[in-house]
Amino acid sequence: MQELRQGIVLTEAVEMAAQPVSVLITGANRGLGLEMVRQMLEAPCPVRKLFACCRDPDGPRAEALQTLAKKNPNISVVRLDATDLCSIKLCAQQVGSLVGTGGLNLLINNAGIAPKGTVQETSPEDMQHCFNTNVMGPMNIIKEFLPHLRDAVKASGMPGMSINKAAVVSISSLLGSMEALHSYAFFPAASYRISKAGLNMLTVCAAEELKKDEILFCVLHPGWVRTDMGGEEADIDPPESVQGMLSVMASLTEKQNGAFLDYKGQSIPW
Ligand code: NDP
Repeated sequence: MQELRQGIVLTEAVEMAAQPVSVLITGANRGLGLEMVRQMLEAPCPVRKLFACCRDPDGPRAEALQTLAKKNPNISVVRLDATDLCSIKLCAQQVGSLVGTGGLNLLINNAGIAPKGTVQETSPEDMQHCFNTNVMGPMNIIKEFLPHLRDAVKASGMPGMSINKAAVVSISSLLGSMEALHSYAFFPAASYRISKAGLNMLTVCAAEELKKDEILFCVLHPGWVRTDMGGEEADIDPPESVQGMLSVMASLTEKQNGAFLDYKGQSIPW
């Protein structure tokens, strides 16, 4: 009986260790971000500190997230607009005071926009806005949250790299791949493609720069998913995409530092 009890305690301890304690998700009020929040809370070992960020927590577009948060004390809804450095700094302060010296284990840069239009149709303002949201946003977020990611590395005491220690996963797109240009006629979103290629390079640079700090960086393609962005014609629903992405995230090690993977774990050419 004692052996069995110890076995159960050990299994529980291993399961606890196999989950990030604290996770932050941007754009968590709808689409893939909201589904990530749902699945992280429904997991057998739910994330204990889940920072669900959105740009307007009190607005109508955050109602579903607020309803979830009312039922679940593990969720903190925090304001973060990826295009507003002040809001990023404030969010980093708020999260820092809640995670303390344990730090932030996993940061998911999910928020994004996908304007349509060819190179010729895209105005400088549209390009700037897309770049600010999809590249500058993640870059500023990474920089402001670095102290909390470093704290998580210190607190973990674990060797290697993983999302249970300290990681930044950014949601990119196959459309940012130079080799996926065959789909350009079907989806000629020039500013989106350029910005996601930029996000990919940002990730590779950060992975190289911060490998000595043992913080893992990678980009994931979620598949073509039925959300407001993906549209009704898309291939899969958010639960399938997110289930895949969460299991890929859970499997990441230092071998995938700087990788570009899809929601099934397949490597995507740059
Ligand atoms: P949605 O359009 O459904 O959701 C986008 C999310 O990003 C919303 O929560 C939105 O918030 C948020 N957002 C937009 N701009 C900002 C900003 N400035 N600051 C903070 N949040 C912002 O998209 P998906 O859920 O489908 O996409 C999520 C990610 O997956 C994106 O990065 C996208 O590029 C990527 N992706 C999606 C694919 C798909 O098929 N769906 C395919 C490939 C990649 P708000 O409600 O305030 O607008």
